[in-house]
Amino acid sequence: MNTVTRPRILVVGAGFAGVECVRRLERKLAPDEADVTLVTPFSYQLYLPLLPQVASGVLTPQSVALSLRRSKKYRTRILPGAAIGVDLKAKVCVVRTINDTVVDEPYDYIVLTPGSVTRTFDIPGLTEHAFGMKTLAEAAYIRDHVITQLDLADACDDPVERAARLQFVVVGGGYAGTETAACLQRLTHAAVQRYPRIDPGLIKWHLIDIAPRLMPELGEKLGRSAQEILRRRGIDVSLGVSIEKAGAEEVTFTDGRVVPTHTLIWTAGVVASPLIGTLGAETVRGRLAVTAEMTVPGHDGVFALGDAAAVPDLAKDESGAVCPPTAQHAMRQGKKVAENVIATLRGETLTPYVHRDLGLVVDLGGKDAVSKPLGVELRGVPAQAVARGYHWSALRTNVAKTRVMTNWLLNAVGGDDFVRTGFQAHRSGRLKEFEHTDAYLTPEELRARVEGGAGESS
Ligand SMILES: Cc1cc2nc3c(=O)[nH]c(=O)nc-3n(C[C@H](O)[C@H](O)[C@H](O)COP(=O)(O)OP(=O)(O)OC[C@H]3O[C@@H](n4cnc5c(N)ncnc54)[C@H](O)[C@@H]3O)c2cc1C
Repeated sequence: MNTVTRPRILVVGAGFAGVECVRRLERKLAPDEADVTLVTPFSYQLYLPLLPQVASGVLTPQSVALSLRRSKKYRTRILPGAAIGVDLKAKVCVVRTINDTVVDEPYDYIVLTPGSVTRTFDIPGLTEHAFGMKTLAEAAYIRDHVITQLDLADACDDPVERAARLQFVVVGGGYAGTETAACLQRLTHAAVQRYPRIDPGLIKWHLIDIAPRLMPELGEKLGRSAQEILRRRGIDVSLGVSIEKAGAEEVTFTDGRVVPTHTLIWTAGVVASPLIGTLGAETVRGRLAVTAEMTVPGHDGVFALGDAAAVPDLAKDESGAVCPPTAQHAMRQGKKVAENVIATLRGETLTPYVHRDLGLVVDLGGKDAVSKPLGVELRGVPAQAVARGYHWSALRTNVAKTRVMTNWLLNAVGGDDFVRTGFQAHRSGRLKEFEHTDAYLTPEELRARVEGGAGESS
């Protein structure tokens, strides 16, 4: 059969949702039933929940980057690039390829899973000075940056500069921020043994959040346990506090404190990918409004899910509840959306997404953890076993499982050598640089391009 006559399914984004969707399409669709294309800037699926362990050096970057090409049923065409706009009327997705060529990719069915980017606010200096924790490059950069601060503090004789280099601020008391602060504090605590000129008492980690509690999803008792673990480790937790302004060498908190520091890590939530804004479709708090079947109302053949979409949470009793932006939901939505795409192709009935949350696991490094699987509150080693067991079993390939397990064992036995690679020493490493939030077309640019039949450009 001529490939041109086959329906074209375009999946945008190779994260938890996109990869699960593609894998199921590959398994369930006959080869001549449809062509599947995946638009992705990277050739791997990033296992984001383990990113704090990459930043702290417990895992190597490669172990959480799962190859997209390792699959027995692999037959998807991978288009290496990022979607920068989607014209839902013309059914065209505009893609900037990794060699900077802009191409139009027509489709019959599109599955939008571009995930989310770090949410920022209009705080002076924030985007210029804060680091994010959403990409592999950011995690690797932060690790190098933190070790750089130790190296520079060790080499310098100015007590003021030394103190500033040894203070670190993490904003965001959700699981991403809490795990990041906890894992990096362990890194500096262990690394300082190798720096005899540094007084360990000068190292200070701050974790702040505007909310009154850390990780409210954990419930009050478990949240307090997590806070207690952090306090015991010397992390200064400040709740009801945010950032007033950020500078290159100091951060001002909203409670008036001015903290001299060269390290501000911003993990205060996420917003849907800016790609969603190019569609001109309805959104719910920035996420694309979709039905429980993950279709976009009023647009045939358009599906969206994961962090980028507001998928109704039918397992909750409250009306208007949407699924939280978690990997747990994204993976399961990915499988369900593949079934619904196939049902649409075959003229069958679509089914809604329903999943009851399984709970939360929070790895604070070493033997410290809190977990709430299926509502059961766990602390310490049992919580850590559940946290690591859960992530390990959720890794998609056996090679990734082996790499992660080997890294954990190696780290437990041999520790870390705190090597500063210097690969990215001349990059600013700040939010905009790694998350490319300004790469998208405006709706007007998109219309002009598609109506003008631009085809390919650089
Ligand atoms: C530090 C951290 C810890 C976390 N811990 C947990 C946890 O313990 N448990 C949990 O359930 N969840 C956790 N999460 C949340 C979870 O990772 C996300 O909810 C999940 O990744 C969402 O899946 P997704 O497929 O929607 O997006 P992602 O997995 O982020 O995938 C989006 C993909 O789209 C690609 N992309 C982006 N823009 C474009 C574009 N324009 N064109 C093409 N491709 C694009 C990206 O490169 C990426 O591959 C954590 C998140 C972070 C940051």
